[in-house]
Amino acid sequence: MADRHPRMRREEKTVAAMVHLYCHDKHGTKAALCADCSALLDYARARLAHCPYQERKSTCAKCPIHCYKPEMRDRVRAVMRYAGPRMLLRHPLLAVLHLIDGWKKAPPAPRR
Ligand code: SF4
Ligand SMILES: [Zn+2]
Repeated sequence: MADRHPRMRREEKTVAAMVHLYCHDKHGTKAALCADCSALLDYARARLAHCPYQERKSTCAKCPIHCYKPEMRDRVRAVMRYAGPRMLLRHPLLAVLHLIDGWKKAPPAPRR
């Protein structure tokens, strides 16, 4: 991760913070994630690593591609719905920067 663009490192931190917040509150975990949330976070990290937009991305919610498979998309949406409003209290800087990312227009889908 060290050689990644700072924006993508922050993106990973944000999604990790949201999954942790969700898992701790909903599944009663402490430091570690439960197996399902751990798999979801691994999946989200892999998607970010392969994201065609990289540091030009808006938020995944605004993405015209949405590269997640349907089951994972539903799961990550549930996490975002729960963790999104709570992030402002628990991780205010990441939350504000993520909000600002969401104001950016999603770039046009790259040609494949
Ligand atoms: S959903 Fe879109 S922005 Fe998010 S990782 Fe996939 S391609 Fe990139
Ligand atoms: Zn969990």
